[in-house]
Amino acid sequence: MAIGAALWATSNQSNEGGRAVTKTLHIGCRYGYQNLKWEPQSPLFKLAGASGLTVSSFEDLILVNQIGQRFWNELDDSYKFLSACLGTNGNLGRGSRANGGGPIWAIFDADAVRRERWDPKPPNVDPNGWFFSAQTIRELAAKIVNPYQSQPIAPRVLEETVTRYNSHVELGKDLDFSRPSPQFKIETPPFYAAWSTPILHDTLTGLRINTKCQVMDVRGRVISGLYCAGETAGGFGLHGLPRATVFGRIAGREAARA
Ligand SMILES: Cc1cc2nc3c(=O)[nH]c(=O)nc-3n(C[C@H](O)[C@H](O)[C@H](O)COP(=O)(O)OP(=O)(O)OC[C@H]3O[C@@H](n4cnc5c(N)ncnc54)[C@H](O)[C@@H]3O)c2cc1C
Repeated sequence: MAIGAALWATSNQSNEGGRAVTKTLHIGCRYGYQNLKWEPQSPLFKLAGASGLTVSSFEDLILVNQIGQRFWNELDDSYKFLSACLGTNGNLGRGSRANGGGPIWAIFDADAVRRERWDPKPPNVDPNGWFFSAQTIRELAAKIVNPYQSQPIAPRVLEETVTRYNSHVELGKDLDFSRPSPQFKIETPPFYAAWSTPILHDTLTGLRINTKCQVMDVRGRVISGLYCAGETAGGFGLHGLPRATVFGRIAGREAARA
C-alpha cells in the first residue's frame, strides 16, 4: 500500500466469508482456536507455549476488556459478541479512548477451576503473559502484563467489575448485558486471569488484484512487477489453504511468464 496498492474487500471480513474471527475456546494460552488444541507432544509445542484450559461452560467466568470492564454477555457466540470485543472501550485519559481489538481476559476463581476440573498449571496455561493468578482481584489486575495490553488494568476497576457481577448473581439478573441468570459468584481465592481474545483464522481482506494476481492501484492500474496471493490478497470469500494454493499458483505462473 505504501507504493500505491489498493485495499480491497474489507467487508469480506465480516459478511460474505462467514466467520473469519472466532471466540476463544481454550483460554490462558496464545492460540485458543476452537478447532485446534496444541498438545505437549506436538513438535511445534514450544512455539505454542501452552494447550489452554478448555471452557465447557462460559457460566464459569466473566470476560473483561483491556480496561477491566465487562462488555457483553459472555454466553453469546455471535457476531454481536465479536463486535463487542472489537468495540472501543473506556477512556484512556486526555480524551482518548482505548481502541477495539485489545486483549480480552477471562476472570474466574478457584470454585470455577473445581467445577471445570481444570489444572491451571503449565503446560495447560502459559504464565509468560497469557495467564495470571493472585490471592485478591486487586493483585490480579496489577499482575496482568502482556505485549498487547496497552496499559495496566486499574485494580479498582477490576474489583468494581467483579463486585458488580457478584451482585448480579445475588439478584439472579445481569443488569448490564442480559446474560441469562448469572449463576456463580467470583469470590474464592486464588483468582485467575486467562487470555481469551478472539482468534483470527482468515484475513479475507487484502490488496486488490486482477485475474493474473497482479496488484492494482486505486485507479485499477497494474503495479508492474508486484503480485500477491493468499491472505495478502483481497476480494475472495474463499477460506484458507485453497485460496493460498490456487492464487499462489496463478501468481507464480504469471510472474515467471513476465
Ligand atoms: C488457527 C488457524 C486455523 C486454520 N485452519 C485452517 C483449516 O483447517 N483449513 C484451511 O484451509 N485453512 C485454515 N486456516 C487458514 C490458512 O492457514 C491460511 O489461510 C493460510 O495459511 C494462508 O497462507 P498464506 O501463505 O496466504 O499466509 P501465511 O501462512 O500467513 O504466510 C505468510 C508468511 O509471510 C511471512 N511474512 C510476514 N511478513 C513478512 C515480511 N515482511 N517478510 C517476509 N516474510 C514475511 C510470515 O512469517 C508467514 O510465514 C487456518 C488459520 C488459522 C490461523
